[in-house]
Amino acid sequence: MHDVLVIGGGAAGFYAAIHIAESRPQTKIAILERGKEVLTKVKVSGGGRCNVTHAEFNPVDLSKNYPRGQKELLGPFHTYASGDTVGFFEERGVALRIEEDGRMFPVTNSSQTIIDCFLSEADRLGIQVKTLCSVTGIEQIKEEEGIIWKVAIGDGHMYCKKLILATGSNPKMWNYVQALGHSIVQPVPSLFTFNIKDERILDIPGVATHAEVKVIPKKNISKKKGKLKPDTAVLTSEGPLLITHWGMSGPAILKLSAWGARILEQYNYQFKIQVN
Ligand SMILES: Cc1cc2nc3c(=O)[nH]c(=O)nc-3n(C[C@H](O)[C@H](O)[C@H](O)COP(=O)(O)OP(=O)(O)OC[C@H]3O[C@@H](n4cnc5c(N)ncnc54)[C@H](O)[C@@H]3O)c2cc1C
Repeated sequence: MHDVLVIGGGAAGFYAAIHIAESRPQTKIAILERGKEVLTKVKVSGGGRCNVTHAEFNPVDLSKNYPRGQKELLGPFHTYASGDTVGFFEERGVALRIEEDGRMFPVTNSSQTIIDCFLSEADRLGIQVKTLCSVTGIEQIKEEEGIIWKVAIGDGHMYCKKLILATGSNPKMWNYVQALGHSIVQPVPSLFTFNIKDERILDIPGVATHAEVKVIPKKNISKKKGKLKPDTAVLTSEGPLLITHWGMSGPAILKLSAWGARILEQYNYQFKIQVN
């Protein structure tokens, strides 16, 4: 029997396991990862450099950067925020550097530095890491001493007192959680670039500029003249904009799809934009 089982060997699973092991050294912890390797997403993050955190150390201002979690994250950020993340890595010999726009990367400019830090910490703290270990079910069992968890793996089971789900965006896991009585809010895509077929940008991929971009629902387009009514824009953003081979990208576009993820889904991703 483990004290804690963590399902998912990504950044969240490792960070959780390491913090528990640090604060309760006698805890028997295992991370269960279905893949051949752990931390694969960390490896590709930030273009292979891993944008570890952001140099925004005020919890209130930090929370304003979360489109659908500002209110919910305010409390947790008062307990643990970017400054604590920086401290965590610096205490373990991983120096971070702040770039002009506030993004923070390891000075080595390599996500492998972050992976090595997590792996050596897990090893130092006696956290078991089991790869090729896919969880296919979770069940709550009420015992006299309290609740324990039965975790199905392959053709066997593991048991634990506390269970952490850190499985990223795995819909199967959401079904297991729903079966336990929790409600799931269906996710929609966010932080995506725009696919635009318009001959005005056909010949200029690679052009970058600073722009204001407005999203205007099709119903707000004058039927007679086909003109957009900019005052009826539902979303507006400003920032660097990049013309690509398939449409538009860059922070001005990514901000729109991050903040407007649910609105753009309502339009079935068919809408007009106005770029100034
Ligand atoms: C290209 C790219 C670049 C990015 N760059 C950055 C960046 O620079 N900075 C940043 O902060 N974020 C970045 N992100 C986002 C960041 O990578 C993710 O938010 C983060 O890695 C998510 O970590 P996680 O542990 O929650 O989930 P994941 O990394 O997805 O880990 C979940 C793990 O659970 C495992 N798993 C799932 N189901 C099961 C199961 N049933 N049994 C066992 N194991 C299971 C999966 O195999 C996986 O390894 C980037 C993402 C991408 C795709």
